[in-house]
Amino acid sequence: MRIDILTVMPDLLESPLNYSVVKRARNKGLVEINIINLRDFTKDRHRSVDDYPFGGGAGMVMMIEPVFDAIGKLTGERGYDEIIYTSPDGEPFNQKMANHLSLKNNIIILAGHYKGIDQRIRDHLITKEISIGDYVLSGGEIPAAIITDAIVRLIPGAIGDEQSALSDSFQDDILAPPLYTRPADFKGWKVPDILLSGNMPEIEKWRHEQALERTKKLRPDLHKED
Ligand code: SAM
Repeated sequence: MRIDILTVMPDLLESPLNYSVVKRARNKGLVEINIINLRDFTKDRHRSVDDYPFGGGAGMVMMIEPVFDAIGKLTGERGYDEIIYTSPDGEPFNQKMANHLSLKNNIIILAGHYKGIDQRIRDHLITKEISIGDYVLSGGEIPAAIITDAIVRLIPGAIGDEQSALSDSFQDDILAPPLYTRPADFKGWKVPDILLSGNMPEIEKWRHEQALERTKKLRPDLHKED
């Protein structure tokens, strides 16, 4: 899989995508992630990629030309399954969407900035708009990193034990069960006996019951009767 992220702040993305599961997936060649500086596509001598909004008003607007040229260069080299724009008014991001996107070959993510981007980019170049939540951040870099992380951990081989990604919260609309590790007794706070029993079928049953309980209690909107 290949993910190309277009941004005016490449440094903001370097660190989040260079640790842990994502770093290992990149090193193993499971995913190629390119962070592309939109300023490399501006003809402006000050490398500006924003301008004043037509009609006036507060804030600057990301210009269409550098975005058009950057996307044009990429799509001239290969086909893309999705060209995503991160936006507070986009489709809410969730695990289902991450699962779906992890099956794609090539995607572009455009991280917006300033007051927003020229509407013509959205109308003519973008195929999907994603929001990471009902709040407004200063830029799309953190949303792009979140979307990329959620996708990459689902690529087969990215996580050592594949079961681990499949048993995460939200897979099958159910939250994850509680986890414990050593010591079995910490200052009298004990690990449930069942987890020390070695009886795998009973442990699995207990985990499923716990996951259901937690889902009913914490996220009743996700819970469906079996
Ligand atoms: N004026 C815009 C509005 O009210 O919808 C917000 C612009 S925001 C300051 C700048 C950029 O951050 C956006 O273009 C978008 O790419 C990104 N962004 C901010 N909040 C986001 C969110 N919740 N989900 C995805 N992207 C977001």
